[in-house]
Amino acid sequence: MNILLTGSAGFIGSHLTERLLAEGHHVIGVDNYLSGQPANTALFREHPRFRFIQADVSLGLPDPGVRLDFVLHFASPASPPHYQQHPVATLMVGAQGTQHALDLARAHGAAFLLASTSEVYGDPEVHPQPETYWGHVNPNGLRSCYDEAKRYAEALTMAYHRHYGVDTRIVRIFNTYGPRMRADDGRVVTNFIHQALAGQPLTVYGDGSQTRSFQYVSDLVRGIMALMDVPDPFPVNLGNPDEYTILQFAERIRDLIDPRLPIIHRPLPADDPRQRRPDITRARTLLGWSPQVSLQDGLARTVESFRAVGGQPERLVSARLDGH
Ligand code: NAD
Ligand code: UDP
Repeated sequence: MNILLTGSAGFIGSHLTERLLAEGHHVIGVDNYLSGQPANTALFREHPRFRFIQADVSLGLPDPGVRLDFVLHFASPASPPHYQQHPVATLMVGAQGTQHALDLARAHGAAFLLASTSEVYGDPEVHPQPETYWGHVNPNGLRSCYDEAKRYAEALTMAYHRHYGVDTRIVRIFNTYGPRMRADDGRVVTNFIHQALAGQPLTVYGDGSQTRSFQYVSDLVRGIMALMDVPDPFPVNLGNPDEYTILQFAERIRDLIDPRLPIIHRPLPADDPRQRRPDITRARTLLGWSPQVSLQDGLARTVESFRAVGGQPERLVSARLDGH
C-alpha cells in the first residue's frame, strides 16, 4: 500500500515506519519536528520505499504525488511537558491537522487511522477504562490542550465516517515506551531511566500513589497493524493492563540500574490522572490482540538502548533498529 504517516519523525512514528516498510509498504512520512527528531527521518533516508516531506500538517498536507491507500495521523506532541509548552500548536494539530488528514484520505478514497489517547478519559472515575467510558476531563486545565484536541479529533473522525463515508479507525493509545523516545521528553519512563543512568535521584511527582500501565512499543505497533486490517470505526484501546503505582515504577527502574539511588519527591502537576489502566476486552475480541512484552523485558530493552547511545537525544534515535 501507499501509506502517508503524519508524525513520522516521532517516537511511535519511527517504529511504525520501520514496521510498515518491513511489510513491503511505501511510506510517505510527514513531520515538522515540533517534538520529533531529524535522526528518526535519517534512519530511513536510504530506504527505496520511504519518502519524507517536512510540513506542518495544521497548515495543510502536501500533494503526495501518488494515490494513497491509507492515511495514519500520528502528528501531535504527546509528552505533557511538550504539549504544555506548545498548547496552541497541540490544539491546532488535533483540530486542523486532523481535518487536513481526513480531507486527504477522503480525496484519495483512502482509509484513515487516528492516533487518539487514554487522555480522552481524563482523570477517570471508572477503572479500568473501557471504550464505552466517556471520561472525566477538565476542559480548560493545563492538559486540556491535548485532551480536548484528541476528543475533538475523535468527533471529527466519526463525523467524516458517518457523513462522508470515510473508512476510519481510532486507536486510544495508553502509556507506551521503548527505544527512540527522546531522553529529554519529560515523560516518566525517560526521566527515570535518564536520571538513573546519570546516577541522579529519581523524581517522583506527589507521593507516587498515582498509577499507570506501561506498554512496550512493539506491542502497540502490532495492534495498530491489526486494526488497519479491520474496518471498524469505533475506538479501540491499545495498552498493557499491567498497572503500577509511580513509586513502584521508580523502584523497578532504580533496581534495574542502580539500587543505591535515592527516590525524591516533587510537587504533583495539576490534573495529573490518579489512575489509568486499559480494559482491552475489545482489542482482544476484535483483533485477537494482547500485549506480549513484559515490563521487565521492555524496560531491559529500553535501558539497553539508552545505555548504547549515552542518553543523548539525537544519538538516542540513531540507535540500531532493534526489530522489536
Ligand atoms: P512524539 O512527540 O515522539 O511524536 C509526534 C510527532 O508529531 C513528532 O515527530 C512531531 O514533530 C510531530 N508533529 C507534531 N505537530 C506536528 C505538526 N503540526 N505537523 C507535522 N508534524 C507534527 O510522540 P509519540 O509518543 O510518538 O506520539 C505519537 C502519537 O501517538 C501522538 O498523536 C500521540 O498523541 C499519540 N499517543 C502517544 C502515546 C505515548 O505513550 N507515546 C500515548 C497516547 C497517544
Ligand atoms: N511523573 C513522575 N516523575 C517524572 C515524570 C512523571 O512522577 O519525572 C509522573 C507524572 O506525574 C504522572 C506519571 O508519572 O503521574 C506519568 O507521567 P507521564 O508524563 O509519563 O505521562 P502521563 O501519563 O501523565 O501523560
